[in-house]
Amino acid sequence: MTSETPNLAKKSPYSIRMVNGEPFFFIPVTHKSDQAPPAYDPKVDYTELCQDMTVRNAQATQQLQALILEFKNLTNKLERLQAHSMTEVEIQKRKRHRRAAGEIDRHFCCEQCGKAYGSEGSLNQHVKLKHSG
Ligand SMILES: [Zn+2]
Repeated sequence: MTSETPNLAKKSPYSIRMVNGEPFFFIPVTHKSDQAPPAYDPKVDYTELCQDMTVRNAQATQQLQALILEFKNLTNKLERLQAHSMTEVEIQKRKRHRRAAGEIDRHFCCEQCGKAYGSEGSLNQHVKLKHSG
């Protein structure tokens, strides 16, 4: 039995990088073919080490999946916010392009004073304000 387990989780050598808008899990190649693999150490319990690595791998995979999901949710949120702000820009543009008084076709005339309005709502507002009470 080994008394000390190597700290495998000290610093993750893995990284997530964006490839065509999708998060990709990169595992850097650390083993060089001209280097001999570590020699067999009779003090190391390789079965325990293997089990430990399997558990760590499963945990890391779960964490990665959670991170990828969070990343996708944040990306969706960002896209929605960007789309919303584009709509705001469109609204501002429309406001600026409001028709001038002379451009409006006035088909709604006041029966009491003959003033013309571009919409029924405008005429009703006028009647309410000027001719009621
Ligand atoms: Zn009127």
